[in-house]
Amino acid sequence: MIEVHEALAIVLRQTPYLGSEDVLLEGSLGRILAEPIQADHDQPPFDRAAMDGYALRAEDAATVPAVLRVVGEVRAGQTSEASVGSGEAIEIMTGAPVPRGASAVQPVERTRRLEAGRVAIDSVVEPRQHIAPRGSEIRAGDVVLEGGAAIDPATIALLASVGRARVRVGQRPRLAMLATGDELVPVSETPGPGRIRNANGPAVLAQARWAGAHVRSLGIVRDDASALTAAIESGLDADVLVVSGGVSAGAYDLVEAAFARLGVEVFFERVAIKPGAPLVFGRHRRTLVFGLPGNPVSAQVTFDVFVRAALLRQQGARVVGRPRVDVELLAPLRNRSGREAHLPARVRWEAGRLVAEPLRSMGSADILAHARANALVILERSRIDASPGERAPALLLGNFLERDGVSLP
Ligand code: AMP
Ligand code: MG
Repeated sequence: MIEVHEALAIVLRQTPYLGSEDVLLEGSLGRILAEPIQADHDQPPFDRAAMDGYALRAEDAATVPAVLRVVGEVRAGQTSEASVGSGEAIEIMTGAPVPRGASAVQPVERTRRLEAGRVAIDSVVEPRQHIAPRGSEIRAGDVVLEGGAAIDPATIALLASVGRARVRVGQRPRLAMLATGDELVPVSETPGPGRIRNANGPAVLAQARWAGAHVRSLGIVRDDASALTAAIESGLDADVLVVSGGVSAGAYDLVEAAFARLGVEVFFERVAIKPGAPLVFGRHRRTLVFGLPGNPVSAQVTFDVFVRAALLRQQGARVVGRPRVDVELLAPLRNRSGREAHLPARVRWEAGRLVAEPLRSMGSADILAHARANALVILERSRIDASPGERAPALLLGNFLERDGVSLP
């Protein structure tokens, strides 16, 4: 049995980068940038007014009230031919280039328009106020994004502003998912005696899509050596093949034997993680092969730690793990497993601290506890007890933001 970090290092070492492709900016959300991005021009590209008001010479309004002659107007999208002379002002709109001669913008709220094209300035004007100088945010040629960054909406705004209608991103891996077990029926069927619905198939496909993969379901296969071998073989053309169930010690856990028959090179078959432990990782030519434990929480947690990391690495991502935060426990936790425990919890901000409320869980089959969690609190192998008030690391799950925002009444 190997440690979680050792297993993860092995997975990442065996994971090839899949190359890159050009996509339209609109289609790049969630993809991984495959090139550094340089600014094509200064930002702002000109000295930009930050307020609606009057462009003027600050020294003309050093003592107030001052009355200035309005000699023109400049709107966003225009440039002004006129320049601001002594005793003059030009009416200006937010986003417009500041005309020559002006050294400050006075907001319209702090002026009074007088008749005969004049304006009164009633409060003192500081030099350079409300002007964003050319290049003050970004200089032409600056690297604004590094390769390996995940593209989110704010990144898309940045890419748009530097003129990237197309961007180079990592190729999306193709993932195939096979659920094993005589007891499984598809979600559309009512389980007969002794049968249960296939939860892992849909869950893994969803997790894989969230990590950027193209997914293919191989459905359900019975615990039968030849059926299993044929089904696994049909998924070996994918970049990643995930099989759930059939990797523990039972008489009908036949997945590893099928891997061996198909020539899958296996690197490990047990990891010191709870939920999890039985977790097979191997490789068949360029295809990564994972045998996840059948219990749904074990399957989801081990997917998140290992398979998700591999999918992101295949796309060239720099960060392949969930965000890790330090939390204060609100209730005791136990870990007698001798493995690194990932325990379901709800993390929230309370009185200036990040706290974790452990969720009651019946264990690795408790789909409900896992679905209610927004984080997994980690107790290392050696930490068998943790008391309220003690601190522990926690992994924030992908549902964290969606589930824990502010809800409207
Ligand atoms: P196994 O790893 O095949 O021994 O399965 C461990 C436990 O997980 C058993 O209780 C199985 O019934 C259950 N299980 C296996 N596959 C799935 C699945 N796809 N969906 C829900 N539960 C499953
Ligand atoms: Mg099984």
